[in-house]
Amino acid sequence: MKLWSQYFVPTLKESPADAEIASHKLLIRAGLVRKLGGGLYTYLPLGLRVMQKLTQLCREELERAGAIELWMPHVHPVELWQQGPRWAAAREIMFRADSAGDGKHGPREPEFVLGPTHEEIVTPLVKAEITSYRDLPKNFFQIATKFRNEIRPRFGLMRAREFVMMDAYSFDVDDDRAIKSYQAMKAAYEAFFRRIGVQAIAVEADTGVMGGSFSHEFMVPAEVGDDDVIYNEASGYAANREKARSALVPADLSDAAPVGAVEEFATPGVVTIAALEAAPYSVPADRQFKTLVYVGDGKPFVVILRGSDELEEAKLGALGFGLFRPAAPEEIEPVLGAKPGSLGAVKGTIKNPTALAGVFADHAIRLIGNGTTGANKDGFHLRNVNVTRDLAITRFGDFRRVRAGEPDVKSGQPLQVRRGIEVGHIFKLGTKYSEKSGAVYTDDQKQSHLMVMGSYGIGISRTLQAIIEQSHDADGIVWPWNSAPFHVLICVLDPQLAEAVDLARKLAAAAEKAGAEVLVDDRAERPGVKFKDADLVGIPLRLTIGGKGLKEGVVELKWRHQKDVAKVPLAEAEAKLA
Ligand code: ATP
Ligand code: MG
Ligand code: MG
Ligand code: MG
Repeated sequence: MKLWSQYFVPTLKESPADAEIASHKLLIRAGLVRKLGGGLYTYLPLGLRVMQKLTQLCREELERAGAIELWMPHVHPVELWQQGPRWAAAREIMFRADSAGDGKHGPREPEFVLGPTHEEIVTPLVKAEITSYRDLPKNFFQIATKFRNEIRPRFGLMRAREFVMMDAYSFDVDDDRAIKSYQAMKAAYEAFFRRIGVQAIAVEADTGVMGGSFSHEFMVPAEVGDDDVIYNEASGYAANREKARSALVPADLSDAAPVGAVEEFATPGVVTIAALEAAPYSVPADRQFKTLVYVGDGKPFVVILRGSDELEEAKLGALGFGLFRPAAPEEIEPVLGAKPGSLGAVKGTIKNPTALAGVFADHAIRLIGNGTTGANKDGFHLRNVNVTRDLAITRFGDFRRVRAGEPDVKSGQPLQVRRGIEVGHIFKLGTKYSEKSGAVYTDDQKQSHLMVMGSYGIGISRTLQAIIEQSHDADGIVWPWNSAPFHVLICVLDPQLAEAVDLARKLAAAAEKAGAEVLVDDRAERPGVKFKDADLVGIPLRLTIGGKGLKEGVVELKWRHQKDVAKVPLAEAEAKLA
């Protein structure tokens, strides 16, 4: 039991000017967090209690799924990242722990970085410790701080620079086993979100810069979310923007096609190209080259059309892109016909389909962006992907399915779009990281194989805020029981009456005995202030003890999510709490 008068719950009448969304305002007003700087927050006692609840429930579900907890450093030697498969992309978002650097890791490169995620750390660990199939599968997790230098931290804990994540990494002997681990984690996520009282839906996601073969995001439907969920209620289909786009084309693009029907996407050897010339990018002319980016089911695949830069190709490869360079640019004719600065679609025949067949077999070509890639002294950038994405989000209402192979969506069936908050993410990674680190095991025939990996993340602190976004009313937060900072709030309206305080202690003890956590509002404040704060802070069950009620021999019980107040005879109150 905690006494409010001796605890620390600094509630506020007004929300700060920079809080734009309800959950951010309530986080501050209910005294859960305080801002230190952009994307940096102190967790006050109530906020920390919620975080600890979420952490514990998450831990329980992961352990139930067989995952093993450990703790990894958050200061990472930079060479681990430089040796990994995605340094070029990841360094953009990493804090440098030592900006001066020691000069050994390249000019202006730091000696250490702060961990945004831990694939690059856990894979070498497993490589060093696990050598036999007998020690697999393993799934390691931690619940700890992550650091990402987000360009635009916003909405409080939603997009922070320092945040709490559960991250897990599974290692299996083969693909089938890896899929089992993936499914076990998906089930653990579902159980976790159910237990904390959050509606989060699993949607198909693209694998992006992580690479890997498939992926799901867990989205909390909310208007203020940064992501789009493309879904069809009847079929249960749900995918994120990028994934849906790779399976679907916007109707306006297909309408604009001078030749060909969109169905031809699936025909081997024939591609339809949605061409978009990216804005000129500040890269010296001799370091520019034209690319096409084919975004398929899995690995994006790039055709380099003109210009050349071996270094950039190597970096593209490191980012997980497949590469193909036609022997002569004419081999992919239509691209050269696309007008710079124009948005349109052209159809053409790849003249050397055999050369591409291997790639096409795995990655049916769907939507293609054409832009400029290049490198400047700050590193490697791939601009066109973003450009295409921005374009693709303008016409969601018009998405239509164009290709057989997703059995649950009928051709032409309209899809809907709603906003969502990404609270969790699971990836089947494959062998991308184990290959880089040489994480191999030997089987019972002494044959050596790459371990097949998965990686998993839940934004614990983002989830905390997503709960509030999903569960609040005009007066404040409405905590689900399992994530509430306390379960029962006992409001003592006349704390100067010894009888009232004694009763509060007695009822608190009874509630605690039944497993509830109790906060007693014993402050010398007016009842109006206490009731307002009770609604704002949102503890599920409120029990009110007043001098008047004591004379009548009753206390009041009220659930935060219900309107009505129940008067309970004193003799029954203890039993009600048990
Ligand atoms: P986003 O698309 O919102 O930038 P992400 O895809 O980069 O997130 P992941 O790398 O998948 O994030 O990390 C796993 C989880 O960590 C996310 O699902 C999200 O819940 C959480 N997360 C990621 N970035 C942040 C952040 N800046 N602040 C708070 N939580 C975050
Ligand atoms: Mg991100
Ligand atoms: Mg994301
Ligand atoms: Mg993600």
